[in-house]
Amino acid sequence: MEKLHHINGQFTRGASTETIAVDNPANGQIIGHVPLGTPEDIDTAVQAAKSAFDAWKRVSASEKAELLHEASRKMRAHAHELIELLTREEGKPLSENEEEVVWTYSTFDYYAELGRHSRGRVLPSTEDGVLNMVIKEPYGVVGCIVPWNYPLLLLAWKVAPALAAGNTVVIKPSEMTPLTALQLCEIAFDHLPPGVVNVVTGDGRTGEALVRHPDVPMIAFTGSLSTGQKIASIAAPMMKKTHFELGGKDAFVIADDADPELAARAVAYAALINAGQVCTSTERVYVPQRLATRFTDQLVDLVKSLRLGDGMDAETDIGPMIGDKYRQKVIDHIADAKAKGARVLTGGRAPDRPGYFHEPTVLVDVNHSMKIMTEETFGPAIPLMTYDSFDEAIRLANDSIYGLGACLYTSDAKKARRFFEDVKAGTIWINDPLTDNYAGPFGGMKYTGGGRELGEEGLDEFRETKHVHWDIEARPKPWWLPYHKEVRP
Ligand code: NAD
Repeated sequence: MEKLHHINGQFTRGASTETIAVDNPANGQIIGHVPLGTPEDIDTAVQAAKSAFDAWKRVSASEKAELLHEASRKMRAHAHELIELLTREEGKPLSENEEEVVWTYSTFDYYAELGRHSRGRVLPSTEDGVLNMVIKEPYGVVGCIVPWNYPLLLLAWKVAPALAAGNTVVIKPSEMTPLTALQLCEIAFDHLPPGVVNVVTGDGRTGEALVRHPDVPMIAFTGSLSTGQKIASIAAPMMKKTHFELGGKDAFVIADDADPELAARAVAYAALINAGQVCTSTERVYVPQRLATRFTDQLVDLVKSLRLGDGMDAETDIGPMIGDKYRQKVIDHIADAKAKGARVLTGGRAPDRPGYFHEPTVLVDVNHSMKIMTEETFGPAIPLMTYDSFDEAIRLANDSIYGLGACLYTSDAKKARRFFEDVKAGTIWINDPLTDNYAGPFGGMKYTGGGRELGEEGLDEFRETKHVHWDIEARPKPWWLPYHKEVRP
């Protein structure tokens, strides 16, 4: 399969001469090629988006809403092919990709309606005959840089609100999952005016050209902390608006009143969905001493029963990781933990088979001197640490540079309140880990970056605020110059 950049409504090779090979992480076989976008390709796409912007921002809110609903309808009609391509390109099981595609088209529906209703507000004026308005305006061309772990969902969380706000976009998908982004353009955006949605494929160099482009006033980025820091250092002197959704090291605390069996199921789901490659994956678990044995036994039994395999097989629970570099990090974190005294209760190995599989792994006797408890692992590893008091659990949960999400299992309302007030994270899940809500803002604190996607906040990220103060009567003001009395009118 060969796919080309999508620029100004056309599929084109642009100035690219080199290509990127895309493989299936379940077996390492090449499934497609895309062009390696050059700075010239980025410029062509930005100019197309810039030319389309003036007309797009003037499209009425109700017409824009219908156009976004139409994109959603087309995605729905082609959901099956998107789900299959996602599975072959990214690796997670079909059922998880089905959920990703539902979220993708529903995000377009959600922002179609939010954009229809929201433009700003009118303020109480300072005097009669004066109108004060707060107007929300688009930035212009927004650069959307997307990672590989949820290639369509994270694209939709940027592109849908950006378009609803009246921006045009240039998307740079991950070099590991560009095929689904281009497939989405083929399927869903051909009714939009040319130049409103553009995709330039490529790697970090292509992304950097987008960040550096002087006609791109906003960059919306989801990816690793190190890439986010690089983008921030380029964008800051240009005073660009940046929106960052970076790494995580989410804690899961089990309170001492919890049912260990239910909590073990919740932890297995939160830590192992998408082979642990979710920004909000549970990456560290804190269990009270009192429940440790029962909880650990339950969790180990459950994890042992999970089936590792190709995501195309409906019986698969856990698919491959995206690539060897990412798997090596998991191997390194487990080795570091073992060297410092941790024990592996199940898993712990990369099986000897094609593809980038890693066994789901449970570790105990871990502590915060280990990488597996402090750095983002982004793989199927569950380190369990015991605690003595709820105060200690909260302190441990907060002991991270990241602040994306945090989970708690409890029926004790006092503990729940203490947790959601004192844990520094953008999302707190209590008894229902990793469930999102279209209207619920999603994003992080601390080094995760302060951007918010979804909800009204997710639309506001893509709008600038302007205050209009208008004296409709155009009357002279008593406080104007000159102040000395002889010449005052
Ligand atoms: P990454 O930072 O390597 O790449 C992300 C994107 O940035 C890719 O499209 C890549 O080509 C591009 N890129 C790389 N270097 C660039 C540069 N110098 N300038 C501009 N663009 C550049 O991240 P990844 O490995 O694709 O994704 C995994 C990371 O994403 C994890 O750290 C994960 O936590 C994070 N993530 C965060 C969220 C969130 O909402 N907070 C969601 C999903 C993933």
